[in-house]
Amino acid sequence: MNKQVEIGNTGLRVTPIGFGANTIGAHNLFENIDEEVSRETLRVALQDGVDFFDSAFMYGLGRSEELIGEILAGTGRRSEVVLATKAAHIVTDASVKLDNSPAFLEKSVDIALERLRTDYIDLFYIHFPDGVTPPAEAVGALQRLKEAGKIRAIGVSNFSVDALRAANQDGYVDVVQDRYSLVYPELEADMIPYCIEQGISFIPYTPLASGLLTGKFTAQNPPQDFRKDRPHFQGQAYLDTVAKVTSLQELADRHHVSIANIVLATTLGIDGIDVVIPGAKSPAQVRANMQTLNAALTNEEIASVRALFK
Ligand code: NAP
Repeated sequence: MNKQVEIGNTGLRVTPIGFGANTIGAHNLFENIDEEVSRETLRVALQDGVDFFDSAFMYGLGRSEELIGEILAGTGRRSEVVLATKAAHIVTDASVKLDNSPAFLEKSVDIALERLRTDYIDLFYIHFPDGVTPPAEAVGALQRLKEAGKIRAIGVSNFSVDALRAANQDGYVDVVQDRYSLVYPELEADMIPYCIEQGISFIPYTPLASGLLTGKFTAQNPPQDFRKDRPHFQGQAYLDTVAKVTSLQELADRHHVSIANIVLATTLGIDGIDVVIPGAKSPAQVRANMQTLNAALTNEEIASVRALFK
């Protein structure tokens, strides 16, 4: 697998296995988050060659960004790393609201720059559409921030195809991030083809289906946390997926990698996808996911893994 790839037409070059930082300092999303483990996970990621970090205000209400900023500043390696982050949420004790107004996005970029301890953000996303601000107006605000040098590429996340078309009316959208994995292939129908047509890089989130595609969950050993209530962890659908995932062991053995590596390598083999951003809760998971770089699947193998999940 190539050592570095360009994310779409952004000029940003990264190793194709990035780091999804939604567990880092994310006390609001996960139980028992230990910030020392978050720090060590980031350190190991940097040592082991991860050069693309995906954060958001919502991951710990700024804490993920702060910890990335802290660890990266200590290395002096800012220029070797591509930082992505997102904003849209306004969180108070009483409610969570979305805002895509130009004023909110400008303020969010300034605050994220401080937390990340940097003077530019490589890739800044609107995390969710607010349903109020015209998408092209929101993206237009990001285009001005790009021209001002505060951000280098523009992303949108969780937009419908129609909202994406509206957001991209001036051709400013560089990257789309949305839920996609072998068990959530729906966006192959329209979103991914639109991105390919427009030269937009599609970055799938939850590429391991929140751990379901790693092979560690079985009929006897289902997850015990929030995941047990998710649709793909329920009933026959769960058992069917577990059987398919388990059947990948032989291919994994042949390539001397793990099932998770086979899944990530297959995802990288899909047109329109340049990079993946698996989440990791520990240094061991980062190291394990980086082994995907050693999984040189043939086109036939990629096609057969994809066919298994159709
Ligand atoms: P994911 O990558 O599908 O799954 C990550 C989880 O799987 C980890 O937290 C870990 O959880 C487990 N895992 C990871 N590597 C493993 C390995 N090698 N072996 C065994 N288990 C492993 O899901 P995700 O983290 O939710 O999504 C990835 C990234 O996408 C996020 O970090 C975030 O940056 C982004 N994201 C964006 C949005 C958005 O709205 N734009 C939404 C969701 C996610 P356990 O150890 O607890 O099993």
